[in-house]
Amino acid sequence: MSQPDYLQLLDHLYDGLYFVDTQRRITFWNRTAEEITGFSAEEVMGSHCYDNILNHVDAQGNALCENGCPLSRAIEGNVNIESEVYLRHKHGHRVPVAVRIRPLPGADGRVMGGVELFQDLSEKTGVLLQLEELRQLALVDSLTGLVNRNYFEREIESHLQEQARYGWPFGLLFIDIDNFKYINDNFGHGFGDQVLQMVARNLKHICRPFDVFGRWGGEEFIGLVRNIEGAELIAIGERLRMLIESSRLQQEDGSVGVTVSVGATLAQVGDSLTDLVGRADELMYQSKNRGKNCLTSDI
Ligand code: GH3
Ligand code: MG
Ligand code: MG
Repeated sequence: MSQPDYLQLLDHLYDGLYFVDTQRRITFWNRTAEEITGFSAEEVMGSHCYDNILNHVDAQGNALCENGCPLSRAIEGNVNIESEVYLRHKHGHRVPVAVRIRPLPGADGRVMGGVELFQDLSEKTGVLLQLEELRQLALVDSLTGLVNRNYFEREIESHLQEQARYGWPFGLLFIDIDNFKYINDNFGHGFGDQVLQMVARNLKHICRPFDVFGRWGGEEFIGLVRNIEGAELIAIGERLRMLIESSRLQQEDGSVGVTVSVGATLAQVGDSLTDLVGRADELMYQSKNRGKNCLTSDI
């Protein structure tokens, strides 16, 4: 098989795939990599993987490109590496991926670069199909594509009933963008809308298939997280906060990011919709008072 045939085959892999040389310059980028990241091969070929392209972070929010890049470790140590990281999509939001990296040996046996395979871990299929059905019932917010408050209130009511009857636990995350007025005032309402969409994409990509995130109104979002213990709810909320903080949106003079304040609470037996949402909202305000960009829980 000639080389171009091989490359075509690589385009049809289920995983994203790219090659880098020893300087971590990208020398091949397959079609699935284009789909997962939003960057075309043309845009990335020849640049370094750390050139403000994917900006991998780990689950604790550590930036991996300057320090701890798995590709560098694989090339320098001539070892295979597997890990789960979050890459930055061209549209700014974070996408969870499982990466497998192998050093590439040259003809003389010395390492001549590396290959990274990455699989999209976001639970797209179920969530997106469900959203399509709901859109037709006018239960989806047109700007962000998340379910709207109307739908969300019904969802909470039905979970409160389930909890009363079967004891199934669930929690709420109340998420408010920090200083959003500043974004509108400085970059325009249209750009503010794009920021709302970016935050929503983060919520869609990072939630588990059985969790629901919606737009509560304005720059406020809400998440219903099922089958959860307190520590797990806090961990999910913290991860979201961190991934939104590490997302960026391109703008004429550079890139812009936002942070969020979060309130996290578990549903209690006997809670009404207003009790539960009111408590999550109040905890979110405590995060604002503590300096924003943090999570407060009563767990
Ligand atoms: P804080 O950190 O305390 O949350 O401050 P903030 O500026 O985020 O909050 P504030 O409530 O003062 O401002 C929210 C702004 O969100 C005001 C409103 O114009 C804007 N907003 C609400 N809905 C939309 C929308 O759909 N698009 C845009 N671009 N802006 C919106
Ligand atoms: Mg608000
Ligand atoms: Mg706000």
